[in-house]
Amino acid sequence: MPRNQEKLPRCPRCRMHLALCFCEALKTIPTQTRVSVLQHPNERYKVTNTGHLVPKLLKNGALHQLSKEGRLGYFPQLSAQEANYLLFPHPEATALNQLTEEHPQGVHLWVVDASWRQARRMVSRWPGFQSMPFASLSEIPKGRFRVRNYQGDQEGLCTLEAVAHSLAVLECQWVADSLLETLDTMVGRILQSRGVSEEL
Ligand SMILES: [Zn+2]
Repeated sequence: MPRNQEKLPRCPRCRMHLALCFCEALKTIPTQTRVSVLQHPNERYKVTNTGHLVPKLLKNGALHQLSKEGRLGYFPQLSAQEANYLLFPHPEATALNQLTEEHPQGVHLWVVDASWRQARRMVSRWPGFQSMPFASLSEIPKGRFRVRNYQGDQEGLCTLEAVAHSLAVLECQWVADSLLETLDTMVGRILQSRGVSEEL
């Protein structure tokens, strides 16, 4: 991106340049599943971050931003009334479709919003995750987030995609499609801001 574009004012809600704001696409959807995103400090101001969109798209979504200083000490309070699961590809992870049978009242899904390397470190270090069971997608669909280089990342999915594909299993395909539609709009605007045609 040319340097002068970096200085253009950004929308505080969707983070895009004001002329490319896609807030009109941010409509909250009600779900039974609670989704909490734990965001690594490096993600906080990135235009390509998608974790911050979760509470803007899901009525039952929350974002916890962790400060650099507090990254090891702070963890949101967990409710014993809820079935908490950490979305993470782990050999012992329960397949998400199994959770719908085990917890018909819904689950609280925790998602780490970080690079793959940071996410692995967060999961192994955070005390809050120590007793949380893992859940994972049985099949990982191809990523469609073309604005970041995921080379080397095992999943190749951005946070919003991972949430969308999980909710396709835990809720319904319509919820997933709505989230992915917003993601496509966001990707289109980012590519536009970089002067790249969406067809490329
Ligand atoms: Zn906006």
